[in-house]
Amino acid sequence: MSSSPAVPPDLSTDVPEELRRRLRTLKQRYGRQRSEPAGYRLELAVNRRRHQLVEIRKQIAELEQRAKVIESELNGFGKGMAALVLEEIAEYERTFPEAWSPTSVLGFRIWVVEDGRLVGARQVWDSPEFTASCTAHPGSDEVPHTDERCGRLGCGIYATKSLDPLFQLHLRESDRNYAVGLIAMSGKVVEHDDGYRAARAEVVSLVLIGKDREIYTTEPEVIAAIFADLEAALTSEQSRRLTTPILARIEEHLMERKDQSWI
Ligand SMILES: [Zn+2]
Repeated sequence: MSSSPAVPPDLSTDVPEELRRRLRTLKQRYGRQRSEPAGYRLELAVNRRRHQLVEIRKQIAELEQRAKVIESELNGFGKGMAALVLEEIAEYERTFPEAWSPTSVLGFRIWVVEDGRLVGARQVWDSPEFTASCTAHPGSDEVPHTDERCGRLGCGIYATKSLDPLFQLHLRESDRNYAVGLIAMSGKVVEHDDGYRAARAEVVSLVLIGKDREIYTTEPEVIAAIFADLEAALTSEQSRRLTTPILARIEEHLMERKDQSWI
């Protein structure tokens, strides 16, 4: 009555229950056959592979788990690196108070009219956008310099924080043929007591005072037209007959745009 050891303990469930039951009955009734049917070897082979498959799936799960651990370690390292970089940037900013300005800084400046063009302290501006360069150290990407390598005043686009120094030192009510503007500075912006030196600037509000005509504008196209061809702008419909007082109206016009610094 005891089952033959040649019979695998667990016949595959792929074999229908009905067949398994009939085989069990025959074995109990007649005992084991003399020759072992090939089917049992097949069954053994199938079972062996099932065990192997289970084993391999277990290993895959373990490897996936290890991969996840390594991934989360890498994430941790990445965050650590970002924290280190932030710390290093903060260290630079502590050591060197001037820093790259993420938002525009607003300031004032003057141009004089020379040969029908607007000229700054040193250079002709033929566009409302200007990028500073260092004549003492051309090609340097640290403009404006702060180590006095290019002289006491240093390179960069100059602007004042308020209109007062411009009005007190450079402009009189009777002056003509000049422009005063509000510029938005970006890139490296170095702050001084009364003003700034910047790597880049764009004119965002402008007053052009000609001989007998004037333009007050915050329109980018009109500002660009003035820098491109001043004489043409002064005879265009954008210009008006010069009226006084000049300085008070310049202040009113430029301050209106400055007070809307979020634009
Ligand atoms: Zn320089």
